[in-house]
Amino acid sequence: MSKTIKIIIIIISILIAATITSLAIYFVFFSDETKTSQQNFKQNLNIIDPDTDTNSEAQSQFITPIQNFTTNQTKKTFGQFITAQNSPVQPERFYGFHTGVDIEINSDQINQDVPVLAVEDSEVVYLGFVAGYGGVIILQGQIDNQPATFLYGHIKLSSVSLSVGDQVARGQQIAVLGNEYSDETDGERKHLHFAIHKGSSIELRGYVSNQSELDSWYNPNEIIK
Ligand SMILES: [Zn+2]
Repeated sequence: MSKTIKIIIIIISILIAATITSLAIYFVFFSDETKTSQQNFKQNLNIIDPDTDTNSEAQSQFITPIQNFTTNQTKKTFGQFITAQNSPVQPERFYGFHTGVDIEINSDQINQDVPVLAVEDSEVVYLGFVAGYGGVIILQGQIDNQPATFLYGHIKLSSVSLSVGDQVARGQQIAVLGNEYSDETDGERKHLHFAIHKGSSIELRGYVSNQSELDSWYNPNEIIK
């Protein structure tokens, strides 16, 4: 074999070896990296995909006290200043800054039992008839490790099978709404007045005369989401 042919064979061998080595390096490193980044991408998709993310619901401390909690706040919101003249409810007998939110019912719920639910694990601290509300139940729980009370107004007291001191679980039905224009609502339309007061004292006022007094309440829409 001539020297030239030997050199050509050596060069071809080196080229083949280099090609094999390059392919090996590509499959060992780069294809793995591609797989890893694809997995990461899928994981990221899971995190931002609300349909597959069940954690956010499970981690939320509170549930809504009634169905359509957000969409049916169509009359009185938190902090709204109500007078006989400007009120969305006519005739109006109340005056002042609204300490809670009013959740209206759908028209087909007039003659149906509309359940109200405990928004978190809490204790019944008040139960009774209160002028302006009819039936009232107050639960005490915690917000950010501080005591807070949850007031449910215009409920049907005869639907409540709880007593003061009872523990209730998050999501447990505690009552149904009172019937419209009856003693159960103290003559009001059928709706839920829901308020969250800071601290553990029993606070029944649905309206306050000074805006600064609202500081003692939470805006329920900032707590219940
Ligand atoms: Zn109200």
